[in-house]
Amino acid sequence: MRLIADNKELKKVLSEARDKKQRIGFVPTMGFLHEGHCSLIERAKQENDFVVVSIFVNPTQFAPNEDFEKYPRDIRRDEQLAIGAGADIIYFPEIPTIYPTGASTFVEVEGNITKRLCGTSRPSHFKGVTTVVNILFNIVKPDAAYFGQKDAQQVLVIKKMVRDLHMNVEIIVCPIIREADGLAMSSRNVFLSIEERKQAVILSRSLQIVQDAYNDGEKNVEQLRKIVINSIETQSLADIDYVEILETNNLETIELIDGPTLIAVAVRFGKTRLIDNIILA
Ligand code: AMP
Repeated sequence: MRLIADNKELKKVLSEARDKKQRIGFVPTMGFLHEGHCSLIERAKQENDFVVVSIFVNPTQFAPNEDFEKYPRDIRRDEQLAIGAGADIIYFPEIPTIYPTGASTFVEVEGNITKRLCGTSRPSHFKGVTTVVNILFNIVKPDAAYFGQKDAQQVLVIKKMVRDLHMNVEIIVCPIIREADGLAMSSRNVFLSIEERKQAVILSRSLQIVQDAYNDGEKNVEQLRKIVINSIETQSLADIDYVEILETNNLETIELIDGPTLIAVAVRFGKTRLIDNIILA
């Protein structure tokens, strides 16, 4: 009963909640839940009467060469974790439930916001994300939806879509949850070998180093960027995809920091691509 795959059943449960004037919070995920996801669910439960967590590995946000097939899945464990964190129901649809046969409609946010950072190495990724989030919002019709700052660019893109399309949902951004050594939690961390896992701590460590340099007065973006790159390159298995320092809201390039600034990194360890970020204010 808590795990719902069918849209009719979901609609029934949601309309009962709405009849009771319950505020609906929504946490979209791709499953293989960890404490990062749970922090979103807990926050949603604090701020809403009824919490829906979706678990859907969305094929349209993966390029053909990416890890869609291999993406980790464990619905039984996810169910326990989501309910433990406060979810009322888990929406677990099959692919044709989300994309009916012949579906050919996409939602795309244009501009720097989807072209830069992850948009460079994953050009079709955000189109898949905005399309599926739009579909999920249409199905669940939440009052508020919860996303992690871990995916800083995703948050910007979704906020922009919601604003541009006058969508009636509040977007709440929750802080990055990290392992004890600083590594940002991610479902993909399970793919790391023991040595890769050890070295992966360099992402958060480099962001801390650049934060310290900024606090000590360094405002030059190219200098700060070099600090991050040099730090990541100390790790033999780290293969940098990008290290970017951009204006936080529109992802404009800057030379000197004089306002809220996003430092975002993407680094491959073997076949696993990890991302992390920090905002300098
Ligand atoms: P995913 O299942 O990876 O698509 O993530 C689902 C949601 O959980 C997204 O809004 C992510 O930003 C968020 N999330 C993933 N990892 C973390 C984390 N370490 N801390 C906070 N939120 C996270």
